[in-house]
Amino acid sequence: MHTLAIDIGGTKFSMAAFEGERLARRESRATDRQGGREWMLAQIAEIGAGWQRQTRFDRCGIGFGGPVDFERQRVALSTHVGGWQDFAFPAWVESTLGLAAVMDNDANAGALGEAVYGAGRGARPLFYMTLSTGIGGGIVLDDKVYRGADSYAGEIGHLTIRPGGPECLCGARGCFERVCSGLWLEREHGRPARELLREEAFVERYVADLALGLKAAIMLLNPARVVIGGGISKAGEALFGPLRRELRRQITAWSRARIEIHPAALGDDSVLYGALALARQGPGL
Ligand SMILES: [Zn+2]
Repeated sequence: MHTLAIDIGGTKFSMAAFEGERLARRESRATDRQGGREWMLAQIAEIGAGWQRQTRFDRCGIGFGGPVDFERQRVALSTHVGGWQDFAFPAWVESTLGLAAVMDNDANAGALGEAVYGAGRGARPLFYMTLSTGIGGGIVLDDKVYRGADSYAGEIGHLTIRPGGPECLCGARGCFERVCSGLWLEREHGRPARELLREEAFVERYVADLALGLKAAIMLLNPARVVIGGGISKAGEALFGPLRRELRRQITAWSRARIEIHPAALGDDSVLYGALALARQGPGL
């Protein structure tokens, strides 16, 4: 079984060829923001057609960096990359590359990737959070993503953690993403998150906010495990140690819910592995 996996992010996009469950080849390119959707589609068509000369793919899975209407298999909105709104991306893949395709948002895909192949194996329910340019979340029950009534379940990035706080890209104020994501950390402090997180004093303040968001997920879902992926999660124990301590402080002994927080195991490939799992499951789920 050969699967083509596509991960569309705000700053780069990646494609991978899986032979069974083995990642056989991958390619990442920076996103040309000026080029927009047409530019990216031309790149995907070129790479895909090139690989198809050597590999006969059976299907395709897509993780898209923005809200997706799963039932209609269309992009709902594109805040980080322009021109994708209401685009039936899987239908484009089918007509261009001749492959049956299924798409979900990248947080749900990352959640599924870590749940089936990574740090969330055997832990259900699983809550996955991507902590990167933005903040997204995904809920996995058994081996299926819980999407809610309108494909908007798990959107932890837009929980309010600071009422009346600064305005978020979604139009609301004080969102978790507005306070804790890489994009806003860099804008507010003038330095990238990976640099800020080397300072102990900064980490102490940061985990207080981060725990506010995660506490909501833990209280609401009582997950067996929380897995955190995305660029900021690469800070490792310097972040995860203080975060676990802060969560234990915020979630009082009244709750016996476990607080098991793990970094993602698949690194930059969580979404690609999730696209693989998604393609194997098909759009009926
Ligand atoms: Zn928001």
